[in-house]
Amino acid sequence: MRMAAGLIFAGVVSLCASSAAWSQTPATKGAATAPQAAPVRAAAPAAAKTPCANPNALGIARVVEIDTTGGPGFGFEHFKQLDFLHDHEVVLTFDDGPWPVNTPSVLKTLADECTTGIFFSIGKHATYYPEILKQVAAAGHTIGSHTWSHATLTNKKLTEDQRKEEIEKGISAVKWALGTAPAPFFRFPALQHPPEMVTYLGTRNIAMFSCDLDSFDFKARNAQQVIDVTMKKLDKLGKGIILLHDFHKHTAEALPELLHRLKAGGYKVVKMIPKAPVQTIAQYDEELLKDAKLPTVTSRPVSSVVQTISE
Ligand SMILES: [Zn+2]
Repeated sequence: MRMAAGLIFAGVVSLCASSAAWSQTPATKGAATAPQAAPVRAAAPAAAKTPCANPNALGIARVVEIDTTGGPGFGFEHFKQLDFLHDHEVVLTFDDGPWPVNTPSVLKTLADECTTGIFFSIGKHATYYPEILKQVAAAGHTIGSHTWSHATLTNKKLTEDQRKEEIEKGISAVKWALGTAPAPFFRFPALQHPPEMVTYLGTRNIAMFSCDLDSFDFKARNAQQVIDVTMKKLDKLGKGIILLHDFHKHTAEALPELLHRLKAGGYKVVKMIPKAPVQTIAQYDEELLKDAKLPTVTSRPVSSVVQTISE
């Protein structure tokens, strides 16, 4: 499932990114860096180069590399400038993990279908279950962050420093859990985007992800409801970044059938990878270790915790 470095840069073509993408909301105009290159580039189709035991797998249609300079925004619910998906293309995104049972179940389903997603991990959860997050990385998925404690950053009780700490400590925690820096991809809890934090993430060169369609899986009473809501919205839109939660049982249960429905409906999965990993800030790396009383190195080697799940 891992992409060879050479593949990422093969056959690069520019997509429909415009300079407008660099100021993703009115609030960030003036704060965003001037564009030097289109933030979304396409790599060669991945499917042919990725071994897959399932001949009917959903697979990966193509890989796009994201230049996160200036903090581009994705997902039309909030950011409307970067329309890079073709008709019937989807990006699968999973929030709030890593979590026992449900995250490994999601990983197995994705591996069975030789496909991939972006996992927006909560910092605290990453410190609880670093071995599960390492499995996500080992399976070749893209990992971003989703704050330290899932605080709603539009909450007026939070100071600006506390909002920044939520963002930065979350990133530092994911890095600590993985032992390597994740993607500069971030999703705001509850999709609540305070304008000053959108501006801040722009200065940090971190891409922001809203979604095109919300599965509302956290409200679903059962797996079937997750499937029904998602497919109904997707069939209406025709494409999009789909918001799911690997944290939730119903989502994990729904995913095998949901992926079958995507395949049957002619949908194709696009993998999003960053041009470069995120740069953490040393102050927050240190705060994380101090506050959470974490060891400075993970206690177990990767080889003892990573299971092969794609065969
Ligand atoms: Zn969340």
